[in-house]
Order: sequence, then structure tokens, then C-alpha cells
Amino acid sequence: MQLGEKVRLGYAFGASLLSWLVDGPPRPFSATFAVTNRCNLRCSYCSCPMIDRGQLDLDQIGLLFERLARSGIQRLGLAGGEPAVRTDLPEIIALAKARGFVVTVNSNLTLHHRHPERLADADVLYTSLDGPPDAHEAARGDGAQDGVLAAIADIAPRKPLIAICVVTEHSIGHVDWLLDQAERLGFRMHFQPQCTDTEIVRGSVSPTLTGERLRAFWQSLLERKRAGRPIVS
Ligand code: SF4
Repeated sequence: MQLGEKVRLGYAFGASLLSWLVDGPPRPFSATFAVTNRCNLRCSYCSCPMIDRGQLDLDQIGLLFERLARSGIQRLGLAGGEPAVRTDLPEIIALAKARGFVVTVNSNLTLHHRHPERLADADVLYTSLDGPPDAHEAARGDGAQDGVLAAIADIAPRKPLIAICVVTEHSIGHVDWLLDQAERLGFRMHFQPQCTDTEIVRGSVSPTLTGERLRAFWQSLLERKRAGRPIVS
């Protein structure tokens, strides 16, 4: 991301925050658009691939982006499902950039080796990483990590990349492995709790993840972050 873009985003975020603080009219800064619910994986905690498979076409997406731009959106996240299953993802990203959005894309990166062009024009990439292959695949299915570290190694030197770890009984013991990969390949880690009770998630939190264990886990993350390890949040 260029310095000018960072300054523009910082200004827009500050203006959005200020309008909220002074109780002025809402000024949205960021939006996320699920370009599809389809996905090539079947992660144990996600129901996206099982819900509505309908998706907007490029004309409808163009209209949506025009309305988002008019409402003041500066940063647009493209998510799914797996956005890269759409052959027209480059056109969707181009439509978003034509509106001046800074574009982030969430992708599991398993299709990157076959279709690197689909994510090429995103400004920032988010991916998923729950630990070494056994732990990752225990939550996300056989083969779910195939090619992912190679894709990260390819992308991270060229653009900001953040890997998201969903904290489950499979991943909770692998923080240092994840942070070692992040330092080796030049990306950052984000850790998020397993969500429940929304339309796009399924499964339940393991009873082994007690409140006490989770509090100790988040505290240990904070200590690692303060020590300078590459943790976003
Ligand atoms: S979490 Fe992401 S990669 Fe996994 S099934 Fe859901 S959309 Fe696909």
C-alpha cells in the first residue's frame, strides 16, 4: 500500500471516528461484501458453503459499489465463502478499485497455485492458519493446508498478509509454531475466538476450552505481542 493511500485511509478513519464521537451523522468507513458463499473447503466451524449459493453478477456488484462509495466507504473487504472460486474475482476487484476503495480479500489460498491472478490486485490479503498441517486439517479438513504456506511465501514479500487463527482445541497449543512461521515468511497473525450462534457458523466450542484456559491463552498472547512478536490482535 502506497504512503498516499495510508494517509487517505488514516484521514477517513479519523473523520469517521470524530463524527461518531461528536454524535454527528454516521460516516461509515469500512464494509465487507461476501462475493459468494461457495467454498472449496468444509471447515468444521463454518456453514457458509451450506447456505444460499446465489451471488450477484458484475452489473449488480457495480451498482452496490457505487452506493457504498456514495456512503463514504474507503476500505472494502471481499470475503466469502472462498472469493477465489469466482473466475470473475479480478473484475470484482477492478470494480472496487475504480471506486477508490482499498481492497482486502479473505482467501484460504488453496487455489492460489492454480489461479494466482485472481488475488493479484488485492491491496491486503487475509488467510487462515490454525497451526501445523495436522492441527489445521483437524479443524478444516484433509488437504486444507496444501499449498497454503507456499502461497504465503509467494505473496507476503509483495503485499501485507495477515493469517487468522480460529482458537479451538486444535489450534490453542500452536501459537509459537504460528508465530515462527509469521516471522520466517514475513506476515502477521490475528487470533480470534470460535464464534457460535450466527447463520454462518456451526459446531460448538469444546468443553475443554474453559474460561480460565482461554483467559490464560489471551494473556499469553498479550505478553508475546508486547515482546514484539507479529500479532495483530
Ligand atoms: S471458514 Fe473459510 S475456508 Fe473454511 S469453509 Fe468457511 S469460507 Fe471456506
